Formats: sequence, C-alpha cells, structure tokens
Amino acid sequence: MILERRAVEPFFKNGFVIGCEETRQGVVIDPGDEVDQLLAAVEHHKLTITNILLTHAHLDHVTGVRRAKAVLNVPVWLHRDDTPLYEHVVEQGQMFGIHVEPQPKIDRFYTKGGEGNEAAEAVVRFGRYGVRVLHTPGHSPGGVCLVVGKMEKDAPEILFVGDTLFAGSIGRTDLRGGDMETLLRSIRTVLFAFPDDTVVWSGHGEVTTIGRERRTNPFLVS
Ligand SMILES: [Zn+2]
Ligand SMILES: [Zn+2]
Repeated sequence: MILERRAVEPFFKNGFVIGCEETRQGVVIDPGDEVDQLLAAVEHHKLTITNILLTHAHLDHVTGVRRAKAVLNVPVWLHRDDTPLYEHVVEQGQMFGIHVEPQPKIDRFYTKGGEGNEAAEAVVRFGRYGVRVLHTPGHSPGGVCLVVGKMEKDAPEILFVGDTLFAGSIGRTDLRGGDMETLLRSIRTVLFAFPDDTVVWSGHGEVTTIGRERRTNPFLVS
C-alpha cells in the first residue's frame, strides 16, 4: 500500500494519503494545514482519490477540507455525531486565536442513524483495499478509527485512529463532547480487539502498534 504522511505547524497533525499500488486509487485522511503537501503526494504517486475521510472534526483535522475538495472533487465523510463540531470550525479557531475558513458541507455520514455507540458499517474502497469504520467516541462524540486492509480473507489491517490513541498517550478529553471513561472504553473494547502486531497511525506523533500500547501505554496498562 502507498502511504504518505505530512504534518506542519502549528498543530503537527498527521494528514495521510493512502493508495492502492496496483490500481492507483486512493483516499485522503484528515486534510489540515498540510493539505497542499498531501495533494503533491497524490500527484507524485499519480493517484486517483475517491474519497476524503475524516476521523473527527477538531479544527486541526479539517482545515484543509475546502482545498482538498476543490482540487479532488470527491465526497467528504464524517461521523454524524461530530457535525456540530464541524459546523463550528470557525469558532473552534477563535478558541485558539486562529482564523479558520468555514468548510464545505459533509457529503456522507459513516452511520445513518447516528445513534450512540454502535459501530459504523460503511466500507469505502480504493482499488484492492477497503476501509472499515469503527465508532470510537471519547475524544470527540463522533470520533472514528479507520481500519484499512486488502479486501481478501485474513489480510493484515492497519489503523488510522485520529486522536483516540497516541504512541504512549491517549487523546485529550477536556474539549467539548470529550469524556475520559468513554475514551478508555473505546480503546479497550474496539482498538485492543486487534492483534498486537496491528500498525497504528495516530493523528499526532509517530507510528506505534496495538501490542506496544497494550503493554506500555501508561494510561492503559492495568
Ligand atoms: Zn482532536
Ligand atoms: Zn488533533
């Protein structure tokens, strides 16, 4: 799988381009201030992007949506429970003293009903790969983790977890709609159900694995 990560100041939030090495289809994950670098990576790999997928709607993860959508002209996906955050992205910016443009409307929601903790069922495809979407609230109400793997039996999967889990840490829960107990439950029941060697790409910082966090993350060792 083609995988490119970019992060720029001030938030050093990871934006991703992932693609199928055979068909050259791909998706963009969480375009923020680094959006132009992500678009350059798309061009470099000659990818056709099919979708823009958001892990959640905090401003650092969505400030590049307008630009990405304008260039790529593909659907933008979000969990319905983060719609209020997304629609108030300008106000989120004001909280940090940052000017943020309003972003284009969401085209598709991962869940239809938007009811609480049920796992979303949407599967987005790019070439030989598929993305399953799991609802992992706690950092934000509509936070999701994207599970990416080849569409074949027993293929290994990698996780894009947004700000749910970090190498050696967990997402903050002091922002609107955050809840520590909910976050810990999401990590323990949804993420820790994956095998130890599952690669985890977080919204900030370096890559890790489920096993390493299970064994060494100070917020999660019991
Ligand atoms: Zn966040
Ligand atoms: Zn973030």
